[in-house]
Amino acid sequence: MSNTLTEAERRTLEMTVLMTPDMANFSGKVHGGALLNWLDRVAFSLASRYSGRYAVTLSVDQVTFKEPIHVGELVQFRAAVNHTGRSSMEIGIRVEAENITRGTRRHTNSCYFTMVAVDEAGRSVEVPKLVPATPVEEQRWRAAEMRKALRREFAEKMAATSQMG
Ligand code: GDP
Repeated sequence: MSNTLTEAERRTLEMTVLMTPDMANFSGKVHGGALLNWLDRVAFSLASRYSGRYAVTLSVDQVTFKEPIHVGELVQFRAAVNHTGRSSMEIGIRVEAENITRGTRRHTNSCYFTMVAVDEAGRSVEVPKLVPATPVEEQRWRAAEMRKALRREFAEKMAATSQMG
């Protein structure tokens, strides 16, 4: 027997992963690349869950590895759809690392993925429009719009710079 996810359930995803030695460097810290790999899987899973489509990564904003994560820590990824365009979705992910034996948890980083829903031929397809329902969701929608505008401005400035050279 299977149950269908509610609309609210389709907008979020949580995943918890134990950091194992194969993900770390010699000093026991998790590689940035290993973390990015998990983040990408979380973003992909939620984008597909929300849109009911396959999804591809278009861009990633604000990934920082300033706060190290160690082998043996239990890492929780909490993700939500913050914004939708025609075929794009912004997926926000909050990462927290738990020291299992001490029973403490700390926020290590947050980042924002832009994912695009595609059909079997790889063409972008429409996604259901997100309607922010709470003040927090409205705030995240506005922040996502700001990131979108900043990305566009950055791309335009870079294009202008390369034309000057
Ligand atoms: P925010 O974007 O200013 O709210 O910054 P945060 O660091 O708190 O969260 C980053 C992103 O992670 C948010 O934009 C949400 O998409 C997602 N997120 C944060 N908290 C939760 C949560 O409690 N549950 C879920 N599912 N996602 C969350």
